Amino acid sequence: MTDMPPLSNLAAIDAAHHLHPFSDMKQLNAKGARVIQRAEGVHIYDSTGRKYLDAFAGLWCVNVGYGRKSIADAAYKQMQELPYYNTFFGTTTEPAALLAQKIASHTGENLKRVFFTNSGSEATDTWFRMARVYWKALGKPEKTLVIARKNAYHGSTVAGASLGGMKLMHEQGNLPIEGIHHINQPYWYAEGGDLSPAEFGLKVARELEAKIDELGEERVAAFVAEPIQGAGGVIIPPETYWPEIARICKARNILLVADEVICGFGRLGHWFGHQYYGFEPDLAPIAKGLSSGYLPIGGVLVSDRVADVMVEELGDFYHGFTYSGHPVCAAAALENIRIIEEEGLVERVRDDIGPYFAAAWKSLEDHAVVGEAESVGLIGGLQLAADKSTRRRYAKPDDIGSLVRNHCLENGLILRATGDRMLASPALTISRSEVDEVIEKLRAALDHLR
Ligand code: PLP
Repeated sequence: MTDMPPLSNLAAIDAAHHLHPFSDMKQLNAKGARVIQRAEGVHIYDSTGRKYLDAFAGLWCVNVGYGRKSIADAAYKQMQELPYYNTFFGTTTEPAALLAQKIASHTGENLKRVFFTNSGSEATDTWFRMARVYWKALGKPEKTLVIARKNAYHGSTVAGASLGGMKLMHEQGNLPIEGIHHINQPYWYAEGGDLSPAEFGLKVARELEAKIDELGEERVAAFVAEPIQGAGGVIIPPETYWPEIARICKARNILLVADEVICGFGRLGHWFGHQYYGFEPDLAPIAKGLSSGYLPIGGVLVSDRVADVMVEELGDFYHGFTYSGHPVCAAAALENIRIIEEEGLVERVRDDIGPYFAAAWKSLEDHAVVGEAESVGLIGGLQLAADKSTRRRYAKPDDIGSLVRNHCLENGLILRATGDRMLASPALTISRSEVDEVIEKLRAALDHLR
């Protein structure tokens, strides 16, 4: 322990009293948590004054960048006027109603209603219940099973962690709960074998059809997937994948759920990820970019198909959160969306900074340890490879990814590693020179692997 850096007071307090999510607490306490104190633009600053370029937008969420005073002002004003009232039992508030309307102005014509939650995980639990309630109201109570994907992430609640396909999460808490089945992800680099990406995309999409056959169409309620699988490693599906999935869901009469928690609010250069891929989901959980993380808020976009049944047939939906549509969070989210609109951030990602980032990210493919560097809009996944000519992966993927991530961190760059994939998801406001800095620092970190 003698070579450990001295803990700052705050880190010591933190170690004594604060249990962190997704952290090995023994290791964290030994090292002491890095204390983040302030942020501006795409930069965060720690308690020692060190500056980092946050190429991960917090946790894929600070889409408008840090330091937006107008969001703070909107929240402050709302807090003074009406800090809280609920949306249960026949009441609403101005920010909640206006936010629902604003969201609907950016969705397709059949996706005009939203149910508010506080987070993406709660949004997952919400659509999960809605899907079952929908089929029951239609006289098909046996349609309860949900098909999801291996390595997916849909949150940390019991339903969220069950629908997610993360083995390590399933092992903690006897998950998944009953009624959830997983099929393979469209991860061509690792699992595509000799197939072309297009062939592989079709093959894994058709696993959905096979699973529906196995379970019985009359028992399957829904299929859920992220348009681009985020926490699983930014797995960008081959172009053949989504059209085939949408075809199967329609032909087999099961609800299609697009988890838009990461892809929503501009990240792919469209308001929502399903718009980029050209399909319309029946249900779509949202969170993160909805408020750019300034305050916690999420929701579920609900299609007319489902909403009409809920409104006309169901009566009460016995579900909701004290803070569903919280007025202060809704006011912050409204201001966040106003900024995205006013600054044309979605168009900027689609036509300007997205293509610039794509070219810069792709340029890393000339590096000896990079198997593939793919992106859509401002989300990028980079595959580390022990031998790029054969797509051979490193024996210890987690170690190799952490090594690169730590070299980046030492050099003032925050990126995430999932196994042997490096992930980027910067604010939609990142400048070209900041993109250059990300690439330069990541390249320098990759050089350590040679
Ligand atoms: N869905 C996806 C695709 C996510 O990436 C996340 C969080 O990272 C969630 C759901 C859960 O959201 P939250 O952490 O707000 O509960």
